[in-house]
Amino acid sequence: MVAMKFWQEKLRKIYPNTDKSPDYIMAHVYTACSELGRYLLRNENNDRRDEAVLKAISWMMALSTHFKLDFESAVVRRFPLACPYCLDRPCTCDRTGKRAKRHGRLLSSNEVKDELSAKYNGLVFSTEASFSWLAGQLAEIYPSNRALLTKGGQGYIAAKLLEEGGELHRAYSVVLLGRGDPADIGREVADLTAWVISCWDLDGAGKNIDAEVASTYVDGCYRCHKSPCVCPTYSITMGQEELIGDIAKYLRALKTAGVQPKAVDEALASVDEVASAPTKKTKTTAAQKVKALMSVLTGAERGLETVDGVVQHLSDAVEHLEHLV
Ligand SMILES: [Zn+2]
Ligand SMILES: [Zn+2]
Repeated sequence: MVAMKFWQEKLRKIYPNTDKSPDYIMAHVYTACSELGRYLLRNENNDRRDEAVLKAISWMMALSTHFKLDFESAVVRRFPLACPYCLDRPCTCDRTGKRAKRHGRLLSSNEVKDELSAKYNGLVFSTEASFSWLAGQLAEIYPSNRALLTKGGQGYIAAKLLEEGGELHRAYSVVLLGRGDPADIGREVADLTAWVISCWDLDGAGKNIDAEVASTYVDGCYRCHKSPCVCPTYSITMGQEELIGDIAKYLRALKTAGVQPKAVDEALASVDEVASAPTKKTKTTAAQKVKALMSVLTGAERGLETVDGVVQHLSDAVEHLEHLV
């Protein structure tokens, strides 16, 4: 288990974002959440949905870094083993109207704040807060969210992502106007993170979020594999770049599984060339490489049992790329 603090620092090195405006970062938080919403509504493609979860969290870490906030402290402070409104685990807000009760008496907002601080202070000395720790805690505080996500409530959760994203933007705007406390951004980041992380591994495949974060960022940026990242600004609009990144990722999975090692190595080398080629040349080179990839795909079908789903993703990505070139 690696603490979330470690990843915030690692991501800061991969994506310093020093030349980016906070609006740029905020927009990417929203885009990643909208992608997540799309995969929830379609109720398909567990891997893509999980990638959107990681993207949304990464951009929220970037936003936290911009405002000199510690992401881990912000989320643990907001959810210190208890719902921040009713102070219970599991949350009882639906019965208490989002109020905390002790011995039959409603607590004042200051009493709620004091109890949350006490819980947080008790935790910070004893807990290494990794992503999987957070996901586990939130599942215990809000078991109903998980139930909603797996029993037809995906539309509701997609709407919550939109609502929480809006609240985050409001807190962000107030801070930019010089009237708010950056800690308010941290609180909204925590709320949005809680919804985002509850969407992790909905298929129940047992995917460990810490392991996935580690494998996504182990070589630096997950697309250009450099640290700091050298991907072009606004590259999210360049579907081709995104697809090439995907193809490289799926090829690496085939490589790990030992499927068609020689062909996969050659295809990976071509993909690296395409990825680092100047933009003008990219299209032509990509078109040639796509053809070369097809032979790998044919051979890789035999590896289906070992790398379940990868070949399908790969052929989808190649097919999309073909439409672009
Ligand atoms: Zn509650
Ligand atoms: Zn990059």
